[in-house]
Amino acid sequence: MTKILVVEDEPDIFQAVQAILQRRNFEVVMAEDGPTALRLFYDIRPDLIILDLGLPVVDGWHVLSRIRDFANVPVIILTAAGRDEDKVRGLRSGADDYLTKPFSNSELVARVEALLRRAGDPHWTQPEFGDGQLVISPGRRTVTVDGLDVALTPLEFRLLSVLVRNAGQLLGVEQLLSLVWEDSSGIGAERVKYTILRLRRKLGWDDPSSSPIESVRGAGYRYKSVRSGS
Ligand code: CA
Repeated sequence: MTKILVVEDEPDIFQAVQAILQRRNFEVVMAEDGPTALRLFYDIRPDLIILDLGLPVVDGWHVLSRIRDFANVPVIILTAAGRDEDKVRGLRSGADDYLTKPFSNSELVARVEALLRRAGDPHWTQPEFGDGQLVISPGRRTVTVDGLDVALTPLEFRLLSVLVRNAGQLLGVEQLLSLVWEDSSGIGAERVKYTILRLRRKLGWDDPSSSPIESVRGAGYRYKSVRSGS
């Protein structure tokens, strides 16, 4: 069954789109905001995405650029009437087509079906790491959390990479010192602890009870992937 991810924060519009597409036997999955859209995008790997540009938290432009980092899945953007500049910008930013609100049922179906016919099998680039919440982009050393860019120092970046490469495994302080610090002489557990705290703060994961970077007293640190649910 062809899966369509609809990213739309207005329930009325979403429900209308869902009803039309389901009648055509498409499976429809909804996201109300950018972070949810990106998480679902990695999880369900949709065949097509309908993306509203005006979204809370992270706007549609940002979602579009994150999608294009990883896949050539067809994307139809929804633009508001009178915003013609969005159409041009959207097509330049990698959208395949656009629909101006309000649109008719037949227009929506025609665009979706035409785009699916044109699209081959979508090609996915494997991120260095990506679990929907945290994405480390290939080669570019960029890190995003829920679609938002996070600037890390080289040391923080190495620490995060080591933790996610060993997701689910407890890494001791000595292990982290040897894997992350170029010269770990004279550096102790306190330095590791503060670097972890700084990394968590930058990623927005301050709260120890919900942070994907878990600290185990006296033992070390562990990255818990959101996708694995571990
Ligand atoms: Ca909207």
